[in-house]
Formats: sequence, C-alpha cells, structure tokens
Amino acid sequence: MATVGSKSRYEESLQGNRIEGFRQRLSGTIVRPGNPEYDAARSIWNGMIDRRPAIIAYCANVNDVTQSIAFARETGILTSVRSGGHNIAGSSLCDGGLVIDLSRMNKVTVDPENRIARAEGGALLADLDAASQAHGLATTTGVNSDTGLIALTLGGGIGRLGRKHGLSCDNMLSAEIITADGQVLTASEQENAELFWGLRGGGGNFGIVTAITYQLHPLGPTVLAGSLIYDWKRVRDALRLHAEFSAAAPDELCTDAALVTLPDGGHGFAISAFYAGAMDEGERVLRPLRDALPTVEDRIGPISYVQLQRAGDASFPRGYRFYWKAQFLREITPAVAKALIDRFPSVPSSKSFFVFQQVGGAIAKVPPTATAYVNRRAAYDSFPVSIWTEPAADQANIFWAREMYAALRPFAMDGVYVNNLGDEGDDRVKAAYGENYTRLAALKRKYDPDNLFRLNQNIRPAV
Ligand SMILES: Cc1cc2nc3c(=O)[nH]c(=O)nc-3n(C[C@H](O)[C@H](O)[C@H](O)COP(=O)(O)OP(=O)(O)OC[C@H]3O[C@@H](n4cnc5c(N)ncnc54)[C@H](O)[C@@H]3O)c2cc1C
Repeated sequence: MATVGSKSRYEESLQGNRIEGFRQRLSGTIVRPGNPEYDAARSIWNGMIDRRPAIIAYCANVNDVTQSIAFARETGILTSVRSGGHNIAGSSLCDGGLVIDLSRMNKVTVDPENRIARAEGGALLADLDAASQAHGLATTTGVNSDTGLIALTLGGGIGRLGRKHGLSCDNMLSAEIITADGQVLTASEQENAELFWGLRGGGGNFGIVTAITYQLHPLGPTVLAGSLIYDWKRVRDALRLHAEFSAAAPDELCTDAALVTLPDGGHGFAISAFYAGAMDEGERVLRPLRDALPTVEDRIGPISYVQLQRAGDASFPRGYRFYWKAQFLREITPAVAKALIDRFPSVPSSKSFFVFQQVGGAIAKVPPTATAYVNRRAAYDSFPVSIWTEPAADQANIFWAREMYAALRPFAMDGVYVNNLGDEGDDRVKAAYGENYTRLAALKRKYDPDNLFRLNQNIRPAV
C-alpha cells in the first residue's frame, strides 16, 4: 500500500514512453485526453459523474487485461475497472488514472444440453438474456438490461428470478479471474474454493473477472408479468395489499412495487408482478391480487421474457442525473407505509420513485455465511431513486432521497446491498458484509495485499 498509487511513481509513469509501450502490448485500443472520442469514452450512465482519466484501455481479450494490470502494478497509476459503467457511485471512472474497460469482451456462449452459459467480463444483462432465451433458458439477473452482468453477479445479483433460483451469484458455477499479481485463476467449488466463496458477493475486490459460467434454468420464452397501477387515494390500501400478498407469495412469484408519479402529474402506487412458472398457475396465483382493489390500470399479461427484462430500461435514461440510498427491510409494516406516504409527495422530480425490490425465497434458503453475500434474511431491498436532468436541481433531489432514506432508517435492517451503495464510506461497506467481513479482509490480503483494486466498495486487506 505504501507505493501503489503514489504520486511520484504515477507522474513518472506518464512522462516517458511507457504509455506508448503499453499501447503496443494491447490488441485493443487506448483513448487519452485530446483524442476525439475522449468525452464519449469517459461518459458513464450516471450523468452526475464527471471524471477525467489519463488512459482508458479498451481490452479486447484476456491478455489485454493481464497487460493492463501489469501496467497498473508497474507504474502505481490509480486504476478503476469498467464493464457496464452503471455503478451509482461511478466507481468505474477515476480522475487522472487508468480505466481498464471490458465492454468489448461481451461474448456469451450457451451449452443448452447442460444448461450452462459462459459470459465474458464485459457482458451486459441483455447479452446473457438473449443468448440463454434462444434456448428457452434463463438465470437470475437484474431489472435494467444494459447493466454489467459480471459486476452485478460479483455483488450478489438481485432480480425477478431470485426468489425461485437464488441470486445471480448463487448460480455462478465458476469464474475466471486475473489477480493483482497477474495470475489467471479459475475459482469454483473444486478449485480455489475460498476465492470462489469471496467472489459470490465480495464485488471487484479480488481481481478482474474475465468470465463467469452460470447455471441456467428452463423459462419462457413467454412469461406472465406486468403492473397494477393504483391512484394516490388508494395508496394506503394498495401498500397494505402489496405487503400482505408479497409476504405470503410462493417462490415462483416476485412482486416489486413503487411509489411513482403518474403521467397526469398525480402520485400513485405500482405493483410489478412476475410469475416464474406455468401461465395458468400464475393466473390463478395472481387473481386475488388483481381482484382486491380497483386499479387505474391492470397491465398483467403474457410477455416475452427478453422484452420484460428490457421493460424497465426507459426509466433509467443514460446520462441523466441519479442518486439513491438503499436499505433492507424485513417487512412493510403500517409504520413504514405511513412514513412513505407522508414524505413521498414532496418528490421534486416526476421521474423519481421509491422502490421495493422483493428478495427472500430461494435467496433466503442459503445460509448467510455460505457465500460472501450475507443479507439473506431480508424480504425487500428498498430505496428512493432520484432522477433529474438539471445540475441546478442536484441539491433538492439528493435531499429528497436522503430524507426518504432517513424516514425508513428506524425500520430497516443493519445490512445494505453492496451493489446499491453510493459513496457512503467504510462503515456501510462493513455493514454490507456483516459477519463475513473479516473472512473477506483475509482473502483480500491474500489476493490483493496492496489494494490495487480499491476503486470499488472497498474491503481493506487484513493487517
Ligand atoms: C439502472 C440500474 C438498475 C440496477 N438494477 C439492479 C438489479 O435489478 N439488481 C442488482 O442486483 N443490481 C442492480 N443494479 C446495481 C448493479 O448491479 C451495480 O451498479 C453494478 O456494479 C453494475 O455493474 P456495471 O458493470 O454496469 O458497473 P461498472 O460501473 O462498470 O462497475 C462497477 C464496479 O464493479 C467492478 N467491476 C466491474 N466489472 C468487473 C469485472 N469484470 N471484474 C471485477 N470487477 C469488476 C469494479 O469495481 C467497478 O467499479 C442496478 C444499477 C443500475 C444503475
């Protein structure tokens, strides 16, 4: 830790011909300040993040990743890793340093007979969904199709199939990783088992993952899913309905929900249901929910799984300004509902919402220490999502999200989902790992003692 990232080594590294030498060792390309594509190359999903890296290395293959890590190690340059560029904190981008970009390594191959997919380090959720659905297969991923698949998996991976098949990381069969010292390792139950434990929730702390193989499951291609929309005058009843219905749901059913602003400018409540099973069984399970209260709209029906996985994309436009703060809940009590109903209407942007992402089911059947992902007992990940466009409105939108978060804090669990953490500091990273933190810190010391990979939700190497 004493020398990696030190200013003098870093400045020295950028002065000589080292960058040219680095460029020549890559099959991929390098973008630097002054190149015409520089501004596009340094832009990421969250428009709040405005950083100016010294080098963006677009890796074309595993050797490029190894060369990039070697360059980072030799020069001490501050280094970040980017796949989908979706992290809310913008941890994939660094000021004045090296960005190792994997977005061109996005191939997904499927072995339909064994129901296994292999995704490269820069694949997006959409890449896995498309390739696996071509064979009527799927595994758990998230709700926004252009999110990076590998980083989502390394932090856990919450999605609509999670209650039936577990987190994305629970479906990880093996990972190929390049560690800080340049070793290319395979991690699985059979090989480097402790590293495999840490990769299932421990984030990007142990190296750069260039491929993951996943267990797939039969699904679709058409599934039963969609939203029920309630107007604000029914919000209390609708929240109670969702709380009761989701708490009693079978593992095949996932019901996310959100307080939203409706197209007419009024506020409302939306329940998004997804049934991972036979269509007629889903109709039967969902009937009591659909009949319970008058809706403004009932949009539940058959839909292709790939289309469903893209349906949320429009809610998160690339380049808009985003801020959120997440926490887990065990249940949605009347006190939680009241806190939300009292505060939601002050939302400054009609694009913003407050969401409950349902977990539990198969996720909760795995013991909390069986993988690095510890928050197995939660029933919902809950968070205000502030979305706006004007920098002048930053303060109001951030303030609203913080207020919503604070209002629920007394009812929330201690843990937090590491993939939804912003720049919230070491204590929240420790809270994300709870009783697994010490074991992760020991693993970090083994694979990255100098903390080369520190622009992430950082686990400090044990001393
Ligand atoms: C709109 C939106 C919706 C989301 N929905 C969900 C959801 O439904 N479920 C869910 O679980 N999460 C969800 N997330 C959170 C998401 O899982 C994290 O933001 C994740 O970090 C995104 O990965 P990325 O590759 O796009 O991000 P990046 O910003 O590119 O990477 C984030 C960090 O991951 C690490 N990293 C990236 N690639 C690698 C790699 N190949 N090897 C090692 N480390 C790597 C680096 O530390 C990097 O800083 C959502 C995020 C957004 C913005």
